[in-house]
Amino acid sequence: MFGQGLLKGLGITFQRLRRPTETQLYPYQQPVLPATSRMFLAMYHDEAGVPACKACMTCQTGCPDHVIRIEKDTENPKVPLSFTVNSGRCTFCGICVELCPFSALHFTGDFERATYLKSDLIYKLVDGSRATGEGEGERHGR
Ligand code: SF4
Ligand code: SF4
Repeated sequence: MFGQGLLKGLGITFQRLRRPTETQLYPYQQPVLPATSRMFLAMYHDEAGVPACKACMTCQTGCPDHVIRIEKDTENPKVPLSFTVNSGRCTFCGICVELCPFSALHFTGDFERATYLKSDLIYKLVDGSRATGEGEGERHGR
């Protein structure tokens, strides 16, 4: 029938009008993101501030986009001296999180880190012997 598609489309439109709105007034209203959101990579560390990373290099090797750069402590090869993330190159595939045998990595829900400078997207999760960045505290589901 001529116009059948149009009527069907209008029917869907009017059905949708009766439902509550799903639009959020960001930035006045903060969105509630799913727990599985992948924004910025972060590392867990224990109560004493020791990073969960054991410098096994699995994530660095497995990352298809060469996002992660790890420097080992020469005196203790199981300790990362620095752990650098170039999030500007990250495709948020999650492979690094999945590969880590120590469950040291996770993604945060922090999405408000837009910048004009690429260099601002490079950050350290371990700097010296300290853990930095988000993700401090308890581990939770990946
Ligand atoms: S999420 Fe994917 S691209 Fe990003 S650092 Fe991990 S492995 Fe690399
Ligand atoms: S896979 Fe895990 S333990 Fe190994 S270097 Fe990466 S974060 Fe550290």
